[in-house]
Amino acid sequence: MDIVILIFIGLIGLSMGSFMNVLILRVPKDISIISPGSYCPQCMEDLSWKDNIPVLSYILLRGKCRHCKKSIPLMYPMTEIITALLFVMVHLKFGLEIEFFKYIFFVFLVLTVSFTDIYTSVDDFETGMIPTVYIALGIFAGLIFAIIEGHLPYYLAAVAAGYLVLFFPAYLYSLIRKKEGMGEGDFMFFAMIGAFTGLGSIPAILTMAAFFGVIAGITVIIMTKNRSYPIPFAPMLGAAAIIYMFFEELLNSYNWSSYIIN
Ligand SMILES: [Zn+2]
Repeated sequence: MDIVILIFIGLIGLSMGSFMNVLILRVPKDISIISPGSYCPQCMEDLSWKDNIPVLSYILLRGKCRHCKKSIPLMYPMTEIITALLFVMVHLKFGLEIEFFKYIFFVFLVLTVSFTDIYTSVDDFETGMIPTVYIALGIFAGLIFAIIEGHLPYYLAAVAAGYLVLFFPAYLYSLIRKKEGMGEGDFMFFAMIGAFTGLGSIPAILTMAAFFGVIAGITVIIMTKNRSYPIPFAPMLGAAAIIYMFFEELLNSYNWSSYIIN
């Protein structure tokens, strides 16, 4: 393993995480991601390049804006560190084969959608939102890789299964409770995940996401004493999808079915 490549991929991950922060903050509010350049979201002052270096600027500024001295949200360096760590882990698992590029893109999209859902549900939005542009881009890219791998039907089936497996329970829930549980965005996000992970991933990802959802739900009820506090589901799906990516050999239900049949 080449340490130079590892460091290089980590640095790419840090700068992609920095770009992700821009996407998370701007896309839900329909602000251009190109101009204006980076600015402090609190005092709107433009940031120079030296206040805009991933993680390093946060440490040098001790987490405070140079102009207004207000705290820079911890979200920024966290997003950059998580992205860099996952990029390095994808490289350690997949080397520099085509899967590396597939799963780097996958991790980037899954994190962007998950963080956008969290950010929009705690910010001034009522419920989290998942911009359709990421879903469309993800399904398109996932299916291109599926064609390259020569398994298009396996991934197409996963797109349909990911959508339907959430749509039906949510539909029943809305009939019984007369209010919406999960949203369209969650169904589409699972469809997008399926385009990268294939049909055999659906049961494991659904099980893990539901488990994380229950844990998060109980935690939120204990902490807020509020039973109707909305919990964004996309981050649960996102975490489950990333775990699946690293442990596919163990969790793929197609592998299981072949053990049982043989
Ligand atoms: Zn400021």
